Amino acid sequence: MAPVTLPFAGLSRLFQQVRLPEMMRSLGSVSPQEFGLLLKSITSKRRPERLPPINSDFYDISDLLTEEERAVQRGVRAYMEQRVRPIIGSYWERGEFPHELLPSFAVMTREVLGDRLHGISAIGPVIGGILAMELARVDASIYTFLGVHWGLAMGSIDLFGSDEQKQRWLMPIQRFERIGTWSLTEPDVGSATAAGLTTTARRDEHGWVLNGAKKWCGNAPFADLNVVFARDLGDNQVKGFVVERGTPGYHVEKLEGKIALRVVQNADVRLENVHVPEANRLPGVRGFRDVARQLGMARGHVAWAMTGLAMGAYERTLDYANNRIQFGRPITGFQLVQRGLVQMLGNITAMQTMCMRLSQLHARDGKVSQERASLAKAFCGDKMRETVAIGRNILGGNGILLAHDVARFFADAEALYSYEGTHEMNTLIVGRAVTGMSAFI
Ligand SMILES: Cc1cc2nc3c(=O)[nH]c(=O)nc-3n(C[C@H](O)[C@H](O)[C@H](O)COP(=O)(O)OP(=O)(O)OC[C@H]3O[C@@H](n4cnc5c(N)ncnc54)[C@H](O)[C@@H]3O)c2cc1C
Repeated sequence: MAPVTLPFAGLSRLFQQVRLPEMMRSLGSVSPQEFGLLLKSITSKRRPERLPPINSDFYDISDLLTEEERAVQRGVRAYMEQRVRPIIGSYWERGEFPHELLPSFAVMTREVLGDRLHGISAIGPVIGGILAMELARVDASIYTFLGVHWGLAMGSIDLFGSDEQKQRWLMPIQRFERIGTWSLTEPDVGSATAAGLTTTARRDEHGWVLNGAKKWCGNAPFADLNVVFARDLGDNQVKGFVVERGTPGYHVEKLEGKIALRVVQNADVRLENVHVPEANRLPGVRGFRDVARQLGMARGHVAWAMTGLAMGAYERTLDYANNRIQFGRPITGFQLVQRGLVQMLGNITAMQTMCMRLSQLHARDGKVSQERASLAKAFCGDKMRETVAIGRNILGGNGILLAHDVARFFADAEALYSYEGTHEMNTLIVGRAVTGMSAFI
């Protein structure tokens, strides 16, 4: 048969190679479904040979770090990837804490931060933020464990303790020889702690007597030291005390049934005529204003942790989507999936730049602005929640299975959204700052 001449060279070659009458005959015996699949396989987009690297630092925020800070970031990331990622899902599912990791935490923190460190304030605001981000990028429970142990318990002793108290407790906490917890929230007083704690402290000839109840105390089931805030019946001001495990009248009961941060061991604490010597009162806590100062610092760290959690969810989502084939191509090839991924990355980039600037201002001024920290906590909370929800959806049904990690990030985001001041409390703090009007009550 004479070759057919066609205006397109590609089609012309095809007609020369294919025996058309035979092909038409066999196509006639193909069912519509088979024909559809054939068309799809001809037109389907294949995954590129080499995929772009998965990178949640799209604006090179790490370029803003010093070489020393970048080394800390690398060290923490390597530790979390090697030691924590492989085991954390099963601990989460069982609601248990990986005590086996405690010795390696001590080694990791000594290696990356140095043994010269004496108290949390020795970690600068930027590196503290990067640390929070890197921990939560792999697991927000491990971040929370350290946030309570180091940030809140060690932080209180560091900020409010006497020299003698620092000498006695800081190093053992820093080296994980003694574990710390921190108790401000009560069963009936959550957001309203500034308006009045019901846990009381009464002065007597031997020291202080504490009575009351606390809720949510992180690490408390196995903690050695609890920083407890109570209202002094003498002057009605909030004071801080270090209560040691085993003190008569100090009762701890693990909180069960959590749907988020299941690795973190939270507890209800009851204080029944607990005697604490004056040597265990933190002299720097003179009222709620001092506690609020510490909360401001902690909120900045939580904003960084929210950023890390969103990064972790994005990276796992993109990795999954690269490998999930539907309709004959990776789902990353669909416009709607790409929109979700870009929305996640945009949120993360906004969170990273906001947190970095917050920490830079903290370093410049030597103190954190409570209002700025609250804005970061509220904004990052919203963006984190949106980010993990998009990720969970991109994984379809697998988005609710722990095996792919995104489900864990999705659930844990809810706890970060509420602790260290709820979204509403942080919004009202900023609202008061910009309007001059308090809308709390
Ligand atoms: C996983 C986890 C770990 C925690 N770890 C610790 C810990 O280690 N130590 C510790 O002391 N605490 C801890 N907390 C407690 C945490 O700080 C509180 O949960 C938080 O402060 C909110 O208090 P609440 O849960 O009692 O909520 P509530 O105060 O009862 O608030 C309920 C809702 O009402 C809203 N609301 C309240 N007042 C107002 C208002 N004036 N205007 C508008 N809305 C309002 C809140 O925003 C919230 O949405 C932890 C909590 C969680 C979930």
